[in-house]
Amino acid sequence: MKLTVWTYEGPPHIGAMRVATGMKGLHYVLHAPQGDTYADLLFTMIERRDHRPPVSYTTFQARDLGSDTADLFKQSCRDAYERFKPEAIIVGASCTAELIQDDPGGLAETMGLPIPVIPLELPSYQRKENFGCDETFFQLVRALAKPIERTQRISCNILGPTGLGFRHRDDVQELTALLYDLGIEVNVVAPMGATPTGLTRLGAAHFNVLLYPETAEAAARYLERECGQPYTKTVPIGVGATRDFIAEVAKLTGITPEVDESRLRLPWWSKSVDSTYLTGKRVFIFGDGTHVRAATRVAREEMGFEVVGIGCYNREMARDIRGLAKEIGVEALITDDYLEVEQTIEALAPEMILGTQMERHIGKRLGIPCAVISAPVHVQDFPARYSPQVGFEGANVLFDTWIHPLVMGLEEHLLAMFREDFEFHDAAGPSHHGGHAPKAIHADEPVVEQTPAAANDDNVIWLAPAEKELKKIPFFVRGKAKRNTEKYAAERGVHEISVDTLYEAKAHYAR
Ligand code: SF4
Repeated sequence: MKLTVWTYEGPPHIGAMRVATGMKGLHYVLHAPQGDTYADLLFTMIERRDHRPPVSYTTFQARDLGSDTADLFKQSCRDAYERFKPEAIIVGASCTAELIQDDPGGLAETMGLPIPVIPLELPSYQRKENFGCDETFFQLVRALAKPIERTQRISCNILGPTGLGFRHRDDVQELTALLYDLGIEVNVVAPMGATPTGLTRLGAAHFNVLLYPETAEAAARYLERECGQPYTKTVPIGVGATRDFIAEVAKLTGITPEVDESRLRLPWWSKSVDSTYLTGKRVFIFGDGTHVRAATRVAREEMGFEVVGIGCYNREMARDIRGLAKEIGVEALITDDYLEVEQTIEALAPEMILGTQMERHIGKRLGIPCAVISAPVHVQDFPARYSPQVGFEGANVLFDTWIHPLVMGLEEHLLAMFREDFEFHDAAGPSHHGGHAPKAIHADEPVVEQTPAAANDDNVIWLAPAEKELKKIPFFVRGKAKRNTEKYAAERGVHEISVDTLYEAKAHYAR
């Protein structure tokens, strides 16, 4: 037993659902207790799909356990076939159904349905959601893909995008456009958007692009063995990685790449002088292995951040992330325990976190800005607008997303200069986020807007015209100007501040 409040990944049958929901013409019969239909909400609410996932649950109840739950499962299979007429069915058990050992795969095979029925063995107590995706997709590919003749033109498959994947929708679009620019056709995108019949055509591609190793590495390896298709090892997230990816594709296919970089803005944005204040910002990076690897490179090489720690929650990528941590001289944190992540962040005290929705909560508690780079994510990370992570537009998106939580350069400068300001103090947070009630550092000090013409500690009074003039000063320097003027007046024994006093003080401090 392990006490847990938050979990980075769902059980493996959620992974199988992500494959089934991403595909078309495939149905998933899931032996599961009543209540497991909660998973539908992940797709209809968070991903905002306009269809129910293609999943039939047996939804057995306590009273069913006394009778024949296996029969219930068989009936669900028959009903699903009759009602949805899918091209293929996958069958499996959720955590609870795994305990009653009805063997859904064996049962479905004996039913003689006229379509492929693919059983899934997903060990719910040892493995998690990403394994569920990877294994389900692998079983589908193993059952359906066969070596066939290659397409005439150079083509590839894009492997890995699923339902409920972080930015998978737009990544596929960006990558397809990039490949098109290189003169490479996309044969099949899978699982997302593919049908079981489509999977039988996988073998026609010349090579595979393994977009997300977490969800499709087993299938990519299988296709390499069985269909002789090499697969790409670089995930094109970030400018450097995208260029490396293009070079890798060129090597695999023999093409001479001509790439249109005219829309790529990250390099100039991060070179332009406004980004100077980003240099050396201490960043902690956590998420799934693939996005952490990519973000680490972008942070170090393309944004000029200092990476102070990295880690991932999916142990399938632990080796990779440990190796990367060693290369860059930091500790790797491999854990799915968010409390451990929180402790590490607290100890490292970074200026920024790049992580998942969990790290956003941690950042909120610790007062550290956070940008989201990896699943699990909230609904706002399935945005309406085009927001890929891969390719050149993806790099533009990364730049904007990572910069946004930070306090901007000028404001940061002011914060350092006027530490005691009522508006710009250490706890005030970035102004462009709003929602922060500025905390008055000196409770006894009157705030100009609220108590006009009030006297301060030294009995200095602001005359109405001077106070009006004061309000013309930009808000982010007003507090400082007010204090300076009062100090100037007090030192000279002036008790009433006029417009002249304000300007005399200004001239005095400008010297
Ligand atoms: S079967 Fe698994 S997913 Fe469903 S309620 Fe139980 S533990 Fe959760």
